[in-house]
Amino acid sequence: MDNIDKIDWKNMPFGYVKTDANVRAVFRDGKWGEIEVSSSEYLNLHIAASGLHYGQQAFEGMKAYRGKDGKVRIFRWEENAKRLIDSARGIFMAPVPEELFLEAVMKAVKLNEKYVPPHGTGATLYIRPLLYGSGAEVGVKPASEYTFLVFVTPVGPYFKGGVNPVDMLVTREFDRAAPLGTGHIKAGGNYAASLRAIVKAREEGYANALFLDAREKKYIDECGPANFFGIKGNSYITPKSPSILPSITNMSLMDIAKSLGMEVERRPVPFEELAEFDEAGACGTAAVISPIGKVFDPDTGKTFDFAKDGKAGPKTMKLYETLTGIQFGDIEDTFGWITFVE
Ligand SMILES: *Cc1c(COP(=O)(O)O)cnc(C)c1O
Repeated sequence: MDNIDKIDWKNMPFGYVKTDANVRAVFRDGKWGEIEVSSSEYLNLHIAASGLHYGQQAFEGMKAYRGKDGKVRIFRWEENAKRLIDSARGIFMAPVPEELFLEAVMKAVKLNEKYVPPHGTGATLYIRPLLYGSGAEVGVKPASEYTFLVFVTPVGPYFKGGVNPVDMLVTREFDRAAPLGTGHIKAGGNYAASLRAIVKAREEGYANALFLDAREKKYIDECGPANFFGIKGNSYITPKSPSILPSITNMSLMDIAKSLGMEVERRPVPFEELAEFDEAGACGTAAVISPIGKVFDPDTGKTFDFAKDGKAGPKTMKLYETLTGIQFGDIEDTFGWITFVE
């Protein structure tokens, strides 16, 4: 029996499933080589690769969506390509040109087309581009060789049985990123740095940690590995900070909010302002939106409650339905965000 026949699309986890192929390209002697297709899930890695030792590594996260028409769509790939270039520059790696990025993503999706889940299941094909220093270095300096790869894996809907609010734990004990550090780029090191806070939050029964700004602990920064937004009256409010990763989901929600006649504010958001929000959520490609039920501050014992009836608020749901509707092709894409995989 083929791997694919075993997949229960409606009940699959948000985890890794082997697919048929992944694609790779190497930057060596100052230029990028051709894309190579591999059926192996393993890399042949130099023991002194800078990506292993000195954290020269960054990634992207995207999804391919199957529409009712059977066609496969990707969402705003240019933004992911640009962000990977920013990430590469931020930690001195060779940037992946936009054309190479697109070619690799398209190839990885096409080679695994049968793994793009059927429309209506809520499942998608997750796309993971990865860039790392593969050249051997012992001294601390940028490597001279880089590897770019793209693998895909089908993932179930983040929320099974509907979009349910989750609770967040405020952390002042750990920082995810420094104000002049690498929080604004998608480097894996930021994730390693966030684990102490995230694991602690999970152990205490919360979905994730709410990070405050590292300098003053006065403003909201990020919500685990996702951006934060709050809804106050008719306004969509999201923090602006040099250590926040610019989320493409958040960018898109801001545009959708405007198109729905809402006001959009992107500015530093003082922690106390939580008391004024009617709704709140965390956003990113994986979950799209995780509505926030409660935020608990262990230092003051204060709880901020956003889902008193246990449900996500109406504005959050409208934003969620509009964005996922565009991604799956159920709502007309008037923004020009969709590219078909043909
Ligand atoms: C990837 C990521 C996000 C979400 O970005 P999207 O482009 O919306 O997927 C938010 N915060 C952090 C720290 C991230 O790494």
